[in-house]
Amino acid sequence: MKFGTAAIHAGQEPDIATGAIMTPIYQTSTYVQSEPAVHKGYDYSRAGNPTRTALEKNLAALEGAKYCAAFSSGMGAIDAVIKLLKTGDHVLAGNDLYGGTYRIFVKVFEQFGLSFDFIDMSKEENVRKGIKPDTKMVWMETPTNPLLRIVDIEMIATIGREAGALTVVDNTFATPFLQRPLSLGADIVVHSATKYVGGHSDVILGAAITDDDEIAEKLYFIQKSSGAVPGPFDCFLALRGTKTLHVRMERHCENAKKVAEFLAAHPKVHHVNYPGFKFHPNHAVAAKQMSGFGGMVSFTLKNDDIDAAKKLTTLMKIFALAESLGGVESLIEHPASMTHSSLPREVRLRSGLEDTLIRLSVGIEDADDLIEDLKQALEQI
Ligand SMILES: *Cc1c(COP(=O)(O)O)cnc(C)c1O
Repeated sequence: MKFGTAAIHAGQEPDIATGAIMTPIYQTSTYVQSEPAVHKGYDYSRAGNPTRTALEKNLAALEGAKYCAAFSSGMGAIDAVIKLLKTGDHVLAGNDLYGGTYRIFVKVFEQFGLSFDFIDMSKEENVRKGIKPDTKMVWMETPTNPLLRIVDIEMIATIGREAGALTVVDNTFATPFLQRPLSLGADIVVHSATKYVGGHSDVILGAAITDDDEIAEKLYFIQKSSGAVPGPFDCFLALRGTKTLHVRMERHCENAKKVAEFLAAHPKVHHVNYPGFKFHPNHAVAAKQMSGFGGMVSFTLKNDDIDAAKKLTTLMKIFALAESLGGVESLIEHPASMTHSSLPREVRLRSGLEDTLIRLSVGIEDADDLIEDLKQALEQI
């Protein structure tokens, strides 16, 4: 089954009881048993729920995997994946991760005796040097947030495998429509389905996906034991989102390219981060492992003034000033004071995240209107 067909059909059979074509919202906490421990596959909704099962099967199919465990948020999924480790284990991670991922690693899991190093994973020698005897997990995001750097999944997964470490890819920005990390050797894919997978800014949801029987069994155990499960209505919303993922992503990619080209030619713009540009430092890797360059663009201003950057975000008429990304509507944000404010300034600057950096989640409106909006705002600063 090809991607668009799987997006609409995988995991979703007409309801057996009524023939309803859409997966019902099984809004129930428990299930009646005919005899003790004899039931129809479900006993309690933390352990399993049919609406969630449909979503899990759907997301697994989209990543080309056998298993998916859905969570109540992307962070819930990330939390569960880290719990595959134990005290003393080391995690080697990229250095411009989603702020919340950095935060849970350093502020929560270091307390439990895990250790983390954050490195520039774009160079093979850095990754090789970063591996320690107790490295049990290698964690990457690509494209990264918000600098849209690209790392080579296949190269890093090979190093991870040689070191006996699990390789995890946060595939939130690319989505399985543009990039399938498991086919490049990764062991686990995590998603904030809150973003492109859901696609309509109306649900918080996460997923961890794997093709490995043993990892899947552990993830389901953690899902049930820690209990960060999504409710059936949230699963329904996410399933509604995945049906149009392929169509939305095509338009996101098209619009982002036009917006990036407009910004790159604008006299007030210093630098545009967009992996589709030939001059992007990792363009070749992006072209190799992705089938499109995504809907995210970030840029800095020539005027190196944080207040000018902040002001710009308030002058937009179509782009809404908000955190998050991946919805049908366009969003603008200022990472240094919003999504990445939990990073100490020196850590932020060291990883190249400058004060005037502005991040766009380019939606699927008409590109001409989006460009006009950016133009009028840039004129005013
Ligand atoms: C948003 C996001 C997360 C966290 O997901 P939530 O659904 O907000 O918990 C993790 N990784 C990336 C790349 C994200 O953009």
